[in-house]
Amino acid sequence: MPREALSLAGEQALNTLDEPFRSRAVQLIALVQHDLENWGDVYLTVEDGRRSFADQLKDYAKGRIWKEGKWVLNPAAKIVTNALPGFSAHQYNRAIHLVLRYSAPDKKDGMHHWVKDEDPRWRTIIGDRAKQLGLVWGGDISGLYDASHVEDPNWKDLAKMLAWKGIPDGKSYPLWKQGDPV
Ligand SMILES: [Zn+2]
Repeated sequence: MPREALSLAGEQALNTLDEPFRSRAVQLIALVQHDLENWGDVYLTVEDGRRSFADQLKDYAKGRIWKEGKWVLNPAAKIVTNALPGFSAHQYNRAIHLVLRYSAPDKKDGMHHWVKDEDPRWRTIIGDRAKQLGLVWGGDISGLYDASHVEDPNWKDLAKMLAWKGIPDGKSYPLWKQGDPV
């Protein structure tokens, strides 16, 4: 399969990242696309770079309910992150998602779905390549298996400097939504 150019959305996601992480993400994408030439059944999309405080809060609230002063799990929905607003590398422009999708559209809904979590290619293509470049892969982060997530190993240094509040976007949010420093 020929190496594919990034979609506009992929370029936009990349452009929300700061150096030196951005350059390493570009290198990683090239390696992954090279590896994928051996596999016709899957392709790569690049998604979800920077997140604002509000974006992270929206994700954190998935699968949870704010009840009597604290977050509790909502059994009716799946959680997507364990990172409270302030505690995600995405909020420091130092994380991105490299998503493996099936080349063939789903017969029922016509969508190009994510490759299943248990497919070993998440580890051998995204995970191992990320580690080669000194990056952290979301499949190795304890708590929530996040196969597409890749982050800068040093993002917490910046987070500490910014008191775990994310890169400021000029908006303010209630303190209870910010969690406590870890
Ligand atoms: Zn992520």
